[in-house]
Amino acid sequence: MELIVEDAEFVTMAGGAGPVEAMLVRDGRIAATGPAGAVRAASAPGARVARLDGATVIPGLIDAHCHVCDVGYLASAADCSQPSAPDIPAIQARLRDAAGRTPHGSWVTGGGYVEYKLRENRHPTRADLDQAVPDRPAVVYHTSLHACVLNTAALRDAGFAEMQPDPPGGAFGRDREGRLDGVIFEGPMFALFERNLRHDLARMGAAQAARVIEMAGQRLAAFGVTAACEADMRRDSFGAFAEADANGLLSQRIYGLVVHDQVDWLLGAGLRGRHSGRLAAEAVKIWADGGMSSRTAAIHGSYPVPPFGSGILYFERDLLTEMVRDFDARGFQVAIHAQGDRAIETVLEAYTALGAAGNPRRHRIEHGGAMYPPLAVRAAALGIVVASQPGFMSTLGDGFAAAFGDRSDELYAFGSWRRAGITVAGSSDAPVITADPLLGLRDAVLRRTGDGLVLGPAERLPVADALDLYTTQAAFAMHREGEIGSLEPGKLADFVVLDRNPLRTDPERITDIRVLATVLDGDPVHQSEAVFAG
Ligand SMILES: [Zn+2]
Repeated sequence: MELIVEDAEFVTMAGGAGPVEAMLVRDGRIAATGPAGAVRAASAPGARVARLDGATVIPGLIDAHCHVCDVGYLASAADCSQPSAPDIPAIQARLRDAAGRTPHGSWVTGGGYVEYKLRENRHPTRADLDQAVPDRPAVVYHTSLHACVLNTAALRDAGFAEMQPDPPGGAFGRDREGRLDGVIFEGPMFALFERNLRHDLARMGAAQAARVIEMAGQRLAAFGVTAACEADMRRDSFGAFAEADANGLLSQRIYGLVVHDQVDWLLGAGLRGRHSGRLAAEAVKIWADGGMSSRTAAIHGSYPVPPFGSGILYFERDLLTEMVRDFDARGFQVAIHAQGDRAIETVLEAYTALGAAGNPRRHRIEHGGAMYPPLAVRAAALGIVVASQPGFMSTLGDGFAAAFGDRSDELYAFGSWRRAGITVAGSSDAPVITADPLLGLRDAVLRRTGDGLVLGPAERLPVADALDLYTTQAAFAMHREGEIGSLEPGKLADFVVLDRNPLRTDPERITDIRVLATVLDGDPVHQSEAVFAG
């Protein structure tokens, strides 16, 4: 079956091609693009025609670093987001409901609240949660995933003591007497989320685990995302992705960055490489340091704000170099989380030790927050690919400014990186922030924090370059530039229909652009309007 898409504006990201007024899709691939008459002439008799009424067609958006499984896990929790749950009694009601369908042995789980959007204008407390779920552990995650609230049973189950002191890289909310009020910030919150996710995944049947992935896929498809690098692929999550794939429930192409200590399992199980057209495990993920918001990114110097210190480096240079050399020798692409300048320097030294010119495996740095311009020059010389997150600007940027002071203008220096010749792949790091690539697109252009500060005006990107991050550049970062990332004959028919052209939209309005349909392999995986008939 053939499909002609016409009466649309095409942003092909292909470059150099003549005017594109229509696109022909055949067997899940793009068969032709060009003037409407030429595309019609190339089609077989009986081809379906979709006239898009002037809407805009762009390549499917690619999220080069996303915790897809975590997104699905949170999406399947009780909806405690605002305005859906406007106040604490509404959150309590959602948790009561959830308690009825949560198997014993798992925590009753809610997600998505924002304290300042609640009518009470505060975090819920353990006392609020105890009223709803008195007799078993319950948790509600903040939408930022940088805080959560536990009831008394959950505090006990997690082993937190009443007067527990704050750990490095984290904090506890407290009542007037200094006892824990149930709210947990940063470090211990991340550990808890990870623990609960792994615990619950292990207890789920295959169908339920696949449902988690399906829910993540629906979320991402609604944002126009057609491919994603899973930044934290493990044995349990791979099983969930594989089950979803086998049942036709994957709405994205998933490229797994397999956590380094799971590689022996991956190889032993014979699951390395392409599992299907939609699931692959070809890269290895390593963490070199901590995070920017928790101020655990390894930096030169020290933080002027709690927990002070210089951050955490997980591996000394020689050990990291040995790991990188080993994975490289076994043919893996390596993706290393590195945020602070000290960590980035260590990673660049490890990559330098490989000695191969041009970085043929496309080894990556994930995030690269404090990859200041001199470090960027070194990364460019090595041909390192950086997967980074423009959307952190509006969501976390004020925290960066507090922690980095004068140097905050040089953080996430997308302009300098691009000028140095680095491939910069766009990504969200969801669920740390929303998976919506339009937010990243806007922030790459504006670089404005929540408080209205512009971080590094010289690092702003023109909107076409920003779109490049989420299309051609991200495709390159996952070795798929021959298949996705632009609308060209021969490539897979992954595309998004938008209600207007982001290249001709006031940057302030980019996040108002609506995704009308998301198409993978020529088939709609999401439609907010009936763009394509059945
Ligand atoms: Zn991440």
